[in-house]
Amino acid sequence: MKIALDGPAGAGKSTVAKALAKKLDIMYLDTGAMYRAVALYMLDNGITVDQKDKVEEALKHIDLVVKYEDGMQKMYLAGKDVSLRIRENAVSKAASDFSALQPVRVFLVKMQQETAQKNDCILDGRDIGTFVLPDADFKFFLTADSSERAKRRAKELAEKGQIVDVLQIQKEIEQRDYNDSHREFAPLKQAEDAVLVDSTFMTVDEVITFVSNVIEGK
Ligand code: C5P
Repeated sequence: MKIALDGPAGAGKSTVAKALAKKLDIMYLDTGAMYRAVALYMLDNGITVDQKDKVEEALKHIDLVVKYEDGMQKMYLAGKDVSLRIRENAVSKAASDFSALQPVRVFLVKMQQETAQKNDCILDGRDIGTFVLPDADFKFFLTADSSERAKRRAKELAEKGQIVDVLQIQKEIEQRDYNDSHREFAPLKQAEDAVLVDSTFMTVDEVITFVSNVIEGK
């Protein structure tokens, strides 16, 4: 079984995908983490998004590995666990910039499709239903108002002890969505055959129940 779960930044895709993967006993692949790891590699090596040749060269040498430890997806670069570093704000922005480059997408989409070929899985991202797994058994497009997404993100950060400006987060989320939906290659877009789930007024549990019911044909 292949499930595609797409949507804008901060819509709760990873929370929903993790819960579904557990419930259905299938693999979960967070594709955003892959774009983040590539972006971190570029940042660490001083490569900027306008240096197309250097980006292509870097992709030949990058040692990027996705691992699962205690059921959690971990990202490794050259043998080092970068799972925490890829969540930094600068990396979110860089991931959105580098993900617009076709060579980066070709490189990661190949890895994603190979993983999906070998496993029953749920992939979350921006282009899973439209591009990575166009024949997925189920496709969902999870969204929510950007103000609500920003509030949820701020709450999450507050729980980790980080006090943030909600309006600033909302601006960053909107900028990222704009970049992601206006790029030339595989932009953020709802697949025609995807089920739209607007979670603005839904709890996480309600979203999970709704999506599970669709999958189980209830
Ligand atoms: O999902 P997450 O916010 O971690 O993704 C980080 C960035 O990676 C997104 O803003 C987007 O630019 C890029 N991305 C993508 N295609 C995907 C997943 C993520 O372009 N399938």
